[in-house]
Amino acid sequence: RPDYDVDAIRAQFPILSRPVRGKPLAYLDNAATSQKPRVVIDAIRRYYEEDNANVHRGVHLLSERATRAYEESRVKVARFLGAGDPHEVIFVRGTTEAINLVAQTFGRQRVGPGDEVLVTWLEHHSNIVPWQLLCQEKGATLKVVPVDDAGDLDLDALDRLLGPRTRILAVTQVSNALGTVTPIAEIVARAHAKGVPVLVDGAQGAPHLGFDVGLVGADFYAFSGHKVYGPTGIGALWGRRALLEEMPPWQGGGDMILSVSFEKTTFNALPYKLEAGTPNISGAIGLGAALDWVGELGLERIAAHERALIKEAHAALSEIPGLRLVGAPRERAGVLSFLVGDVHPHDAGTILDRHGVAVRAGHHCAQPLLARFGVPATLRASFAAYNTTRDVDQLVRGLHAVRDVFA
Ligand code: PMP
Repeated sequence: RPDYDVDAIRAQFPILSRPVRGKPLAYLDNAATSQKPRVVIDAIRRYYEEDNANVHRGVHLLSERATRAYEESRVKVARFLGAGDPHEVIFVRGTTEAINLVAQTFGRQRVGPGDEVLVTWLEHHSNIVPWQLLCQEKGATLKVVPVDDAGDLDLDALDRLLGPRTRILAVTQVSNALGTVTPIAEIVARAHAKGVPVLVDGAQGAPHLGFDVGLVGADFYAFSGHKVYGPTGIGALWGRRALLEEMPPWQGGGDMILSVSFEKTTFNALPYKLEAGTPNISGAIGLGAALDWVGELGLERIAAHERALIKEAHAALSEIPGLRLVGAPRERAGVLSFLVGDVHPHDAGTILDRHGVAVRAGHHCAQPLLARFGVPATLRASFAAYNTTRDVDQLVRGLHAVRDVFA
């Protein structure tokens, strides 16, 4: 592809030029976490070398600089999500923390005995367990939208399951185990037609599709920085202002208050009400740099590159005797899940590792979904902006080696 210089992109990622087990690294575990470009690593280093101080507190210059950089990152996240108001962006540790925050504040307030929380069969454990805990606490019921044999959601069932007691629908934008892209705008429209608010798990959607909160009209969106070329330990929750205003604080501590006495505490305005304590300042700055990097390259172009590679990989894997792809969704992003004959995925993954190929082998934190497909684990190859045809070739050679060992 002439307009996409993948070798120039790779050159921006220091780790990609380091051999692994004496082989060039074919990093195909991007759904777990992506690698980081030099600009992100530099932004974090520069912050610690030049600006480090606590935010929102000091009267001194460094604190002002740290605060400005931290708040600029919030603006970048808002822009990335098409949100007009940066104060609707709450910095959190990642998708998991964002979902727990919503379950424990909005959820606790809205869900009562006999109510229902709706999730789908595609969900990662982090979009199941927080709701299960909430339902147990409140005497509510967790309901699940089924998937068909291709790995697509059953939208008729969704309509049936959206009932008068449904208090929230929590649904993923992209499945981390199968790569299914859910028709998220359609799902949100159907839920809203019944007055049900929607939380979208964007952990896998953000790096491949992005999200426009204005266009899709969800109520909450959660994503993790480390899957979009940013550092670990930082992510964001976007929420509709009216809902965030109505939510009680989650954690108590510094920064989330206006005044404290032993009798009464008044809480700070958004977003600080929901950000107790010293935040992950360097992480937020790194995330801002990562979103700038994505913006400059263009998410559309990254997505087109990944789609072409996945198509290539899909065709190449289909030629390997005994290889079985799991799931055939209508639209796919980022991920191919498969099995090699009856070789255990961990054994296959270990052999691939010896060939310098990094994939994930396991249940991908989506045990109910894999159980639905009758497998306890799969191999998962997942793609990012810097992957190449060479990575796909290396994967295919590695899979032939797996067959040779187990033949
Ligand atoms: N949801 C999905 C779909 C995911 O893929 C992941 C990460 N594997 C998560 C949620 C949780 O993200 P994190 O571990 O960064 O909180």
